[in-house]
Amino acid sequence: MAEVLVLVDHVDGAVRKPTLELLTLARRIGDPVAVALGAGAESTAGVLGEHGAVKVLASDAPEFADYLVVPKVDALQAAFEAVSPAAVLVVSSAEGKEIAARLALRIGSGIITDATDLEAGDEGPVATQAVFAASYTTRSRVSRGVPVITVKPNSAPVEPAAAAGAVETLAVSFGEGATGTKVVSRTPRESTGRPELTEAAIVVSGGRGVNGAENFPLIEALADSLGAAVGASRAAVDAGWYPHTSQVGQTGKSVSPQLYIASGISGAIQHRAGMQTSKTIVAINKDAEAPIFELVDYGVVGDLFTVVPQLTEEINTR
Ligand code: FAD
Repeated sequence: MAEVLVLVDHVDGAVRKPTLELLTLARRIGDPVAVALGAGAESTAGVLGEHGAVKVLASDAPEFADYLVVPKVDALQAAFEAVSPAAVLVVSSAEGKEIAARLALRIGSGIITDATDLEAGDEGPVATQAVFAASYTTRSRVSRGVPVITVKPNSAPVEPAAAAGAVETLAVSFGEGATGTKVVSRTPRESTGRPELTEAAIVVSGGRGVNGAENFPLIEALADSLGAAVGASRAAVDAGWYPHTSQVGQTGKSVSPQLYIASGISGAIQHRAGMQTSKTIVAINKDAEAPIFELVDYGVVGDLFTVVPQLTEEINTR
């Protein structure tokens, strides 16, 4: 069976969920070979093997931490040349997309970004994408070279599948460009204790209807009752009620959770662009004519100041 390279997203050896989702998709196409880079790379092998990785190519060279993306591109290219895979899968994060694009250019391949599904096809893997602010769904395949595909978090279930997960050291010789951009400092963001917005299985967002920063704790309480991340519309962010890092939409983050709850959000096209691929969409809005109701699975016409606390209380009692 053909091998499929999967670039591992991990923090000091702790593998993040989107990588396990990639392994589910990779197994539809071939045998997953994981590429783990940076501190703790080798310790990813256990969990990767439990999710179907037949092999883990690991390198913990200091260059991965000291410089921006190019050393990782050098390493992924080294893995590509060592394995000759049928496809390369990368998580659709800002860094993942940059690495994937640079690799595709180097190996002369086509690239598909932000896929939301992946299946095997006679002429190579076929990826599903939502395009034009998610107004259309396209299915496409790379027609030149080995497909390089980035996949959005929450696009596939995490499915355990026992495999060898045998660790092999990846030999990388870094090119001239690898040390071109040095990391000067890293400041971890203050943790909210909530899941990362783009990876969360549930997102609860607030918009202009929340009517002030002082009311966002209502949204946060609902989010916490569900173990969800908190998002915001641009109107709420521009008003200074919530940080820009939480903005969902065309000029914010793109999310694709199992459940998206929009409270006091009208459903402008630029907001939809960032959340329309969510599996189940719920809206709470006091205006029955609000455009958001055109795309919801469940809609509540009501005042969020009444509905959201009731919902939170109900969930907390279960
Ligand atoms: P509004 O459109 O004002 O809607 C507020 C809603 O709250 C209304 O539907 C109202 O009925 C409801 N409401 C009010 N009070 C209550 C209550 N008590 N209970 C229940 N419901 C209530 N927007 C984004 O979100 N993300 C983006 O990334 C983004 N990028 C943009 C990029 C460009 C280039 C441009 C031009 C715009 C962009 N926008 C983006 C802005 C977008 O067009 C909308 O202006 C914005 O999404 C509106 O936010 P909102 O829905 O919170 O506010």
